[in-house]
Amino acid sequence: MNQPPSRAMKMAQYLVGLLLLLTPTLLIWQHFGMTRVLELSPRQPHGARVTDDRYEKGNTVASLVQTRDALVMRCELGMAYQWPFCKLQFLLGEGGKGVDFSQFDTITFDMNYEGPSPRKIRLYLINFEPELSTVDDWNSQRFNQIEFELPAQPTFTIPVNLLRTADWWKDMRKVPLAQTYTRLDNVTAVELSTGGIGRAQVVTMELRSIQFRGKWISKTRLLMYLVYAWIACGIFGLSLSLLHFRSGLLASQSRLELLATINKALELEARELADQAHTDPLTGALNRQGLREALMRRLQTPEHYGEGMAVVFMDLDHFKQINDRHGHNTGDEVLRHFAAIIRREVRASDKLVRWGGEEFLLVCPETHIEHAAMLAEKLRVAMTTQEWPHGLRVTSSFGVTELKPEEDIGAAITRADSALYAAKSNGRNRVEVA
Ligand code: GH3
Ligand code: MG
Ligand code: MG
Repeated sequence: MNQPPSRAMKMAQYLVGLLLLLTPTLLIWQHFGMTRVLELSPRQPHGARVTDDRYEKGNTVASLVQTRDALVMRCELGMAYQWPFCKLQFLLGEGGKGVDFSQFDTITFDMNYEGPSPRKIRLYLINFEPELSTVDDWNSQRFNQIEFELPAQPTFTIPVNLLRTADWWKDMRKVPLAQTYTRLDNVTAVELSTGGIGRAQVVTMELRSIQFRGKWISKTRLLMYLVYAWIACGIFGLSLSLLHFRSGLLASQSRLELLATINKALELEARELADQAHTDPLTGALNRQGLREALMRRLQTPEHYGEGMAVVFMDLDHFKQINDRHGHNTGDEVLRHFAAIIRREVRASDKLVRWGGEEFLLVCPETHIEHAAMLAEKLRVAMTTQEWPHGLRVTSSFGVTELKPEEDIGAAITRADSALYAAKSNGRNRVEVA
């Protein structure tokens, strides 16, 4: 099952390597970089403008002067309205489409303030929420607010999470408790307002910049994405290795099947070769080696041994003449015919052996000499009644004997040969018994 890794497996390995590299890189980058800044300043004024309480029937007058590096709001607070104010307003969107501030963590101010104590200002992040807000009604947007006293130094930073939905807005809008959370995902405006001052005064705010800072992606969210990526990678790798395992199994199965087929073919060939080594190709009779083999096998089954075995030696009469007159091929055909007749007439357990040339041996187990003599006579007659190629008349002489107890088959064959010689001498086409 040692398959080389597939392309998909290699890809999975690359993927794991990539993730191993990417995970710490992204975490470190998130920690030290990935900073997103939104600035409100003379350079990026976002439609800076001032408003005051005159639309609430007050008499406060706000004015805006933009210098090269500051937006200067001068505010003459009047006491006509209950809560007099001036606002410096930045518009970040219109028609209900604002900017997502939810990833900002801090707000850094760079500003000067001149006015009586308490030096308080308010910051509003105004969020448009389709469930609550309508485009025509400015106050239908959520007012996220923080009011604080300015520190002595001009630059300072506050965390965004100090912002709260303004109480006056909750009261005015009768917002249900469940919706009183801070929400900053669609901020359409940022407002910097004077705090609650109860006397007619002049306040000057000189704003050089407000910077909102945050990360492009929060650590939690990044970790979540990385976990997703690892899980996906794990599932991918697991399914790949399952597929790989399965295809390996299939491959080895088909290899085994192929081996079995080859084995079977080789076995068949081996058997054919063994048969060829034991048989005479012309007549299909056993050769001498085949006889030896058959006798050996017989010796291994002792229950039949010694129950009488007959040997019949056969030699075609005047076969040389057939060759001479009709050709060698006809001679071969006669030999094949002869073997076929013998096989047809004898038992399956009788072994026909081509001893050489036109001499054949018939070894008949469990046969006594009288029966062998009768068999030889039957064969001799069968040859005379048989149709031969070219209308030939073919006869054979037979020498019959029986294997004596404890006797070597070679001795019996010699004796059968002598009987055959007698048959030839006595005129051929005869059976002689030794
Ligand atoms: P007999 O009656 O005394 O046996 O005479 P015969 O002619 O049969 O005997 P002989 O031994 O003189 O001749 C046998 C011939 O058989 C000689 C040989 O050429 C021929 N012969 C031997 N093997 C083959 C063979 O495979 N094919 C053919 N066509 N002839 C063969
Ligand atoms: Mg001969
Ligand atoms: Mg002969």
